[in-house]
Amino acid sequence: MLNEHDKGGKPPFGGHGPDGKPPFARMKPLKEILTEQVGAGVFAFSAPPMRGHQYLVLGKEKALLIDTGFGIYSLKEKVRGITELPIIVVNTHAHPDHCGGNAEFDAPLLHPDDFEAYAANTGYAARYEEISHIPDSAEYLENLQPDPPAPVPLREGTTLDLGGRTLEVILLRGHTRGSIALFDRQTGSLFAGDNIQQMTNLTEQWASSVEELLPELEKLRELPIEKIYSGHNPMCMGTEWLESKIRLCQRLLAGEQGTERRGRGGMLLALSEQLPDGEESVLAYDPARIRR
Ligand SMILES: [Zn+2]
Repeated sequence: MLNEHDKGGKPPFGGHGPDGKPPFARMKPLKEILTEQVGAGVFAFSAPPMRGHQYLVLGKEKALLIDTGFGIYSLKEKVRGITELPIIVVNTHAHPDHCGGNAEFDAPLLHPDDFEAYAANTGYAARYEEISHIPDSAEYLENLQPDPPAPVPLREGTTLDLGGRTLEVILLRGHTRGSIALFDRQTGSLFAGDNIQQMTNLTEQWASSVEELLPELEKLRELPIEKIYSGHNPMCMGTEWLESKIRLCQRLLAGEQGTERRGRGGMLLALSEQLPDGEESVLAYDPARIRR
């Protein structure tokens, strides 16, 4: 079913591993949405099945919800347990584990370059197909949120004013062509979606080339970033992770080659390096898309 959208010959979101099963089939599933306060007026949710992170940022007049998870169980219940403020929803990019819970909220803001991926990736049927491969998935399927509403275009340079707190929209092409990051200048917090995390993955359909990602990362150096919040793992990082991703892009563009490794979508080609704290920073790439 997912492959009907696969015009480019690449696997759609996630893809299937060498055992023929989607990545969720190999993971220990989470059975509830977890909540954690990670800053002043900033809350992180970790959502089933993959423990991806969504963030709730509170202003005086509005709250901003950054991503909505896969859409299993009610994220709105968790949000309403924290605030009654009107909610603006932004999707950092159009993958189902970031947009799947949109149906519970007003139309999300999304960069138009991800609209095609949104239509193909995030509907009920596509998410049902992915989830149905998890052992004991019946509870997930029962609690799967319906089709999300159509997105509203969000452009680079837009400022979201929450009342006493503003976030800037920064286009961050890479993981998808319409990926964005959000920056809170007052606290130095960058919400980076899936472009800066343990494995930055440029192998899925709708991803950009390594050459396109590099200047996007370099422009972030102009910002007074204190901490980076990711869509997955680790949740909160320092700018050494940004510098690491820049180095990995530069090495690939200089002709270095990575090695094969297992990713959540099966076997991938990736270049990696060790950070001083022992964490491994990985850039998975498509050898056909190093250059634009
Ligand atoms: Zn993603």
